[in-house]
Amino acid sequence: MKITAADVIVTSPSRNFVTLKITTDEGITGLGDATLNGRELAVATYLKEHLAPLLLNRDPHNIEDTWQFLYRSSYWRRGPVTMAAIAAVDMALWDIKGKVAGLPVYQLLGGASRTGLRTYGHASGRDLPELFDSIREHLEEGYKSIRIQTSVPGIKSLYGVAAQAQSSGERYDYEPAGRGDLPTEEDWDTRAYLRHVPTVFEAVRNEFGPEIPLLHDGHHRMTPIQAAKLGKSLEPYDLYWLEDCTPAENQDALRLVRQHTTTPLAIGEVFNTVYDFQTLIREQLIDYVRAASTHFGGISPLKKVMDYAALYQIRSGFHGPTDVSPVGLAAQSHVGLAIHNFGIQEYMEHSEATNSVFEQSLNFADGYLHPGDKPGLGVELNEEAAARFEYQRAYLPYNRLADGTVHDW
Ligand SMILES: [Mg+2]
Repeated sequence: MKITAADVIVTSPSRNFVTLKITTDEGITGLGDATLNGRELAVATYLKEHLAPLLLNRDPHNIEDTWQFLYRSSYWRRGPVTMAAIAAVDMALWDIKGKVAGLPVYQLLGGASRTGLRTYGHASGRDLPELFDSIREHLEEGYKSIRIQTSVPGIKSLYGVAAQAQSSGERYDYEPAGRGDLPTEEDWDTRAYLRHVPTVFEAVRNEFGPEIPLLHDGHHRMTPIQAAKLGKSLEPYDLYWLEDCTPAENQDALRLVRQHTTTPLAIGEVFNTVYDFQTLIREQLIDYVRAASTHFGGISPLKKVMDYAALYQIRSGFHGPTDVSPVGLAAQSHVGLAIHNFGIQEYMEHSEATNSVFEQSLNFADGYLHPGDKPGLGVELNEEAAARFEYQRAYLPYNRLADGTVHDW
């Protein structure tokens, strides 16, 4: 069996997606997600100009060899662009292998360790009544675990808070990259945030009781001592996890946070390789691995990092925003179903427009996801539908403090 074509499809049904389609001489095709939110065309070009020529005539069955060849032969290792491109190839090859075998990918990874993936949804509100409505709506939809983000008094716009009440109509992306020529500017005040967040969790626990697993995302905005303080102040509310409490580049910061709080920590959605997790896992500085198959080199390395994490009772919490395409979500769902140390899967439903482009066997019911039992990843690309949605440049927002200093978004 040989690879005869590697095509890159860029489409924008409500947000941009980059998809790799690998075709073989036997007519079997495989899909991979290469979407890097806000920098999509860099990966599309990397795939088209640099990886596609290397793939032609290779045996698609040699997934590990192809991965190592692409990683090592480039000389320039790691980084989100490189690793998203390699991820797309890896996923597409697993998709092909599954189709040849007549098995869903999770069967090739060892079979199912559970009947479904417990998910968490994103509740948010500009104030407590709006937040409570959003939580109720998620509970009615079947979600068993819920991430809580709210506005903070004195801060005009904030990450993770819906710009409109969730019940006001069609489901939408909570954090779409802004469309247009320039990124949107937001404001930030860490002290106001640290004062406000514990009061929100206290109110949520008073309203909804102690049982629902609650999560919160700090989005890399705190210093280590601020993160330690927040973790400690949230302990009475028994969080499932506190996510990205400090910028991920400084892994030593997590030691300080860990010394001060028993609030479980999740980190790693911007990580690209197992090396980014090496210290955090070995020193047991985190509780959940937040990598996404799409930004982490694909299915193969995601399975490896989770096997490493299993030695330390660290579990998965794969990044699942809507900029991870249905192909990327399916890829990590197969891993999540197979590994023993699965924790929870972030799940934001894709838009109807996105689902018209990506036809999926993924199933969400009663708060649980299942990637389905179609051979391969279980996602097919409707290329005619994809062609109807033209790429639009889109940037994520960014932050400035009151004095004009740029801050982490
Ligand atoms: Mg996050």
